[in-house]
Amino acid sequence: MTSQPQNPHRTYKILTVDDTPNNLYLLDRLLGTLPHVEAIKAYDGNTALALTLEHEFCLAIVDVQMPEMDGYELVELLRGNQATAQLPVIFVSAILSDEYYHRKGYDVGAVDFMSKPFNLDILLSKVRVFINLYEQRIQIQEWNQALERMVEQRTNELSLAYERLALLDQAKNDFIQVAGHELRTPLTVISGYTSALRSMLKHEPAALQMVEGIQTGQERLLEVINNMLYVSRIDNEVLQVLPQMISLNEILKKIQMELQDALDERKLTLNLQELDRLPMIEGDPDLLPKAFNYLIVNAIKYTPDGGSITISGSTLEDRDAQWLEIRIQDTGIGINPEHLDLIFEKFFQTGQVNLHSSSKTKFKGGGPGLGLPIARGIIAAHQGSIWAESPGYDETQLPGSTFFIRLPVVST
Ligand code: ADP
Repeated sequence: MTSQPQNPHRTYKILTVDDTPNNLYLLDRLLGTLPHVEAIKAYDGNTALALTLEHEFCLAIVDVQMPEMDGYELVELLRGNQATAQLPVIFVSAILSDEYYHRKGYDVGAVDFMSKPFNLDILLSKVRVFINLYEQRIQIQEWNQALERMVEQRTNELSLAYERLALLDQAKNDFIQVAGHELRTPLTVISGYTSALRSMLKHEPAALQMVEGIQTGQERLLEVINNMLYVSRIDNEVLQVLPQMISLNEILKKIQMELQDALDERKLTLNLQELDRLPMIEGDPDLLPKAFNYLIVNAIKYTPDGGSITISGSTLEDRDAQWLEIRIQDTGIGINPEHLDLIFEKFFQTGQVNLHSSSKTKFKGGGPGLGLPIARGIIAAHQGSIWAESPGYDETQLPGSTFFIRLPVVST
């Protein structure tokens, strides 16, 4: 038999209810042999209920036959009270050998039975088991409380860290805004001087080439700065959309014209499939072309020579609204499914080959890993969505990728 109690600092209170004083006295003596156990006596149900308000019991030993309130009624009342609903009850009675009484006892919520006259050793063993169960329940409660305290502490720490990060992020964005504008001013001055130099050096090819090199570098730098500014505005949710009715077909045809040299150099075909049938939408005439430009430039960058890019569109109803869906499908190297969401995160690059890197053609790209985040920010600012699908990444099989853009069609 296991020794009692598990916790030497705890007193295990047992409620004993019986209308016969001798029985209570006997139980009291018996339970008194167990260390750290205190029996608290009640001669009737009402006194027992009152005692449950004062003490926390680990077990009740209840006589079934009592005047006024019998044991069944008492246990039913105990079960109905939240504080005592879980209190284990052993019924003690001379008539309990009958199966009918056992069932009745279980129905009201008893957990065990003893027939009178009872075997003292068996009663003590049962009491020990219930004390053990009580101790385990208390321990679990204590662990739970400790765990809750820990979770609360960690949550507080995390929210503090989050607040700190948000402050740092804000400081970073503020810095980018200020630094970006500061850098743009001298670049504009350089641009003015290089243009002037170009016309002055018209007849000196060697010097002209150098000036053109400076100008290309300056344009690239300006583009990177502008993109950093876009990203910080998107992060701060202050990207300003100035909407007007626009035709995506017109926008895409214009981008096609601008990129024609790059397409020709790479022997790529760009098909715009019956986009003239699509309705006009409300959108920013500067921002939306930028987003589509990034996607088409990417399709060019990641599609080997001789491939094709197909742009199709349709309208659809979803979530009680009408949407315009544009699909940009290429026959390129594809994207690993694990990267399909990540590619829209800032500075994320899959590390896959960039077929354009060796090309001579000049692209207006997003900068390192910034094109798709900017495109996503622009589409989100138009209450639209953007996502990519691809069977996988394979440089030889060329499974291709499709980028989807959904924009709301606002009825005019
Ligand atoms: P960047 O092209 O400058 O790396 P982006 O944000 O435009 O940055 O794209 C992120 C990454 O997504 C790219 O590095 C590339 O791996 C992948 N990606 C984008 N578009 C395509 C595409 N059409 N086909 C295959 N991979 C693509």
